[in-house]
Amino acid sequence: MRKAILWFRNDLRLYDNPALQAALNENDQIIPVYILDERFLQNDQWNIQRTGPFRMKFLLESLTDLKEHLEEKGATLLVRRGIPESIIPELALEFDAKAVYASKEYTHEEIQVEESIATTFPLHMYHSSSLVHPDDVPFAITEVPDIFTQFKKKVEKYAEIRPTIPTPDRVPTPQMIKDTLPTLEELGYASIQPDERSVIPFRGGAVAGDDRLDYYLWDSNLVATYKETRNGLIGGDYSTKFSPWLANGSMSPRTIYHELERYEEEVTKNKSTYWVKFELLWRDYFKFVAMRYGRRIFFPGGIQDKSMQWRNNDKVFQRWKNGETGDDFVDANMRELKATGFMSNRGRQNVASFLVHQLKTDWRKGAAWFESMLVDYDVCSNYGNWMYAAGVGNDPRDRIFNTQKQAGMYDGAGKYRSLWQ
Ligand SMILES: Cc1cc2nc3c(=O)[nH]c(=O)nc-3n(C[C@H](O)[C@H](O)[C@H](O)COP(=O)(O)OP(=O)(O)OC[C@H]3O[C@@H](n4cnc5c(N)ncnc54)[C@H](O)[C@@H]3O)c2cc1C
Repeated sequence: MRKAILWFRNDLRLYDNPALQAALNENDQIIPVYILDERFLQNDQWNIQRTGPFRMKFLLESLTDLKEHLEEKGATLLVRRGIPESIIPELALEFDAKAVYASKEYTHEEIQVEESIATTFPLHMYHSSSLVHPDDVPFAITEVPDIFTQFKKKVEKYAEIRPTIPTPDRVPTPQMIKDTLPTLEELGYASIQPDERSVIPFRGGAVAGDDRLDYYLWDSNLVATYKETRNGLIGGDYSTKFSPWLANGSMSPRTIYHELERYEEEVTKNKSTYWVKFELLWRDYFKFVAMRYGRRIFFPGGIQDKSMQWRNNDKVFQRWKNGETGDDFVDANMRELKATGFMSNRGRQNVASFLVHQLKTDWRKGAAWFESMLVDYDVCSNYGNWMYAAGVGNDPRDRIFNTQKQAGMYDGAGKYRSLWQ
């Protein structure tokens, strides 16, 4: 009897999951596990908690949903707290599993864990988080273009988006005791009071992600006007809000892509429907940048290796975090983030530019605060966008946002600022 561990990471779904598919094809039984990695529950070098309450709540909901789906397929999900390098060998011993299957990650800490596990077990890894499969791009990873437009042009011309993999009918597992998931409070977090000003009440899990996809495309047709509304600030409808599900993999970018194609065939095809695909390519781009540049995406001088000078005044940073800088547009956005775990793309660009260029603060501190607070934190998108905003990433120009001008353009009547006063 061949048994293997299926180690869920940021791929919390049963459909379009290549690691799951391979584990089922090559084994008689699999042991599905998710590990709450202790290191991501701790504080970072700036003393900021790495996983804040919004993302942890969303993650627990996503795991509950995944566990329920696995149970419908005759299996369950083990949820353990610790470090994968210790837990995986323990489980392998307990269940006599001979291999591990998992989705590939592209950043330093995650790769170190993979390498450590691979020294003791055959670790089979699959690409499941990007829209474009890394084997399908027409360049070597060392040649990933430094300019997004060049990346996009090549990918759009030469790479086909792969079809999605169906959900398996059954997931055979050995007899095992069902784990009970910890609650937010058991993990040491205070319970979250929902804020009625939140763009949407985010709920983790593939079912909720699917509902959001249906809503944004088929129920509301909002996707057909996305390009006109995407710079909005208030409410659920101005943009897709797919990001939290995409970040932990309870939504697959390929599913979104193929649904968009179907929508374009059956309803309408226009600049807006294209633009959602375009944004998904930005998401991919930052993954490819991480693959190419490794640890450099976390360095103060970024991938450009620029030498930077910061003032790094802690009081100033605290005021930025709390939305007390005196710039009403920046402050409104920072308050929204703190109260809900979300901020619009327009807001993110403004507050990042303000921290770096006005407050002369190390961009990595801003990135760390976002890492803690964002419900949709994704290591590549976050550090890639922050480097970009700080002028140390994939932008040849130094873009400095005039936040008051931006407020005038995107919040002319002041509605957003008064919502978050
Ligand atoms: C400083 C900064 C930090 C950011 N940190 C993150 C992060 O940690 N996680 C994250 O998912 N996004 C991040 N973004 C990108 C972007 O702001 C969010 O993806 C977007 O606001 C999420 O809302 P949405 O799903 O409604 O996006 P939509 O506008 O509906 O876009 C659709 C999807 O395209 C992708 N996308 C859109 N814009 C970008 C972008 N600039 N970079 C990468 N992908 C993009 C996302 O997956 C998004 O869900 C950051 C942007 C900035 C400026």
